[in-house]
Amino acid sequence: MSLTLPERIDQVEQRIQTAVHRAGRARDDVTLVAVTKKFSAAVICEAYSCGLRVFGENYVQEFAEKRPALSGLTEAQFHLIGHLQSNKARQATELFHTVETVDSGKLARRLNEMGRPLEVMIEVKLSPEGTKAGAAPEELPGIIEAIRSCPNLWLTGLMTMPPWNTDPETTRPYFRRLAEVARIHGLQKLSMGMSHDLEAAIEEGATHIRVGTALFGPRPKA
Ligand SMILES: *Cc1c(COP(=O)(O)O)cnc(C)c1O
Repeated sequence: MSLTLPERIDQVEQRIQTAVHRAGRARDDVTLVAVTKKFSAAVICEAYSCGLRVFGENYVQEFAEKRPALSGLTEAQFHLIGHLQSNKARQATELFHTVETVDSGKLARRLNEMGRPLEVMIEVKLSPEGTKAGAAPEELPGIIEAIRSCPNLWLTGLMTMPPWNTDPETTRPYFRRLAEVARIHGLQKLSMGMSHDLEAAIEEGATHIRVGTALFGPRPKA
């Protein structure tokens, strides 16, 4: 029999507790971002009623369609965790509290032009493998400077998505590297780690873990 949502949330919470304990960190230092891409607004409402408050979505258009049904979730924080195209910048600033995937100065300036205060993180690509979006570490100084000159943007940290691997020990070096890069640039927040490797991410300093499958089960195909 499959688990209920409260049971899955409980399991994830246990895993977080174990990892923060092992790492000598405080539970409050780690925010669980519930990744709800491909799931309905009803699922987000149910998760909210179970106590979850921070949600991650990948696609601006998909979230725009769900957003009207979420107006009652007054304490919810919505993070964009998928690649953002400049032509969706306006919609993104209207829908999200935080954009975790800024990867160019140009995109930062577009977001800034919309005139709304917005928390941003920079998505960093730490491996040439795959076609993942994100800025190369060498590009960071320029992007950081661009964001800091944008009065509406508040830069808090870095985000990364390592090449897919089921073994957390294979992704751990990427988490460690992101923490190093953030330290070099004086940035506090680290969004890294997903369902299968959240423990390694927490041990390497994650402040935000992005968890979908472990909370909601396999994503619907359509
Ligand atoms: C889908 C997604 C996640 C969640 O992945 P799970 O393996 O389902 O936990 C996290 N981060 C990003 C950027 C995603 O696209």
